[in-house]
Amino acid sequence: MSTVFSKIIAGEIPADIVYEDELVLAFRDIAPSAPTHILIIPKREIATVNDVSAADEAALGRLFIAAAKIAAEEGIAQDGYRLIVNCNRHGGQEVFHLHMHLVGGRSLGPMLARK
Ligand code: AMP
Repeated sequence: MSTVFSKIIAGEIPADIVYEDELVLAFRDIAPSAPTHILIIPKREIATVNDVSAADEAALGRLFIAAAKIAAEEGIAQDGYRLIVNCNRHGGQEVFHLHMHLVGGRSLGPMLARK
């Protein structure tokens, strides 16, 4: 059940990589929703948030460490940004390799439409 993100980790398809360490990789979203739209992923493939386990604690914590570092480098830390993790159908997840969206560079408005 390998996804396009595994191919990016393996270097089999290109990506605009902005950060990498032993646990996580971050690259620009191919269809950005804002001036800054970066995906931060654990190198170990985890399909969804439903599949996380205690063994993933370090990598999942590292997603936030990387997000803060990247936001500072992108110059959006002070104004702020949004971190999003979608899960399954109702969450709108399209790629089944857990990932954190780092979105910013403009005011993003309310988090969700109130319906
Ligand atoms: P999600 O809906 O949370 O699963 O988000 C998946 C994201 O992956 C979307 O924002 C896509 O634009 C992005 N995406 C899909 N394929 C690629 C790719 N090859 N390189 C960069 N981003 C991608």
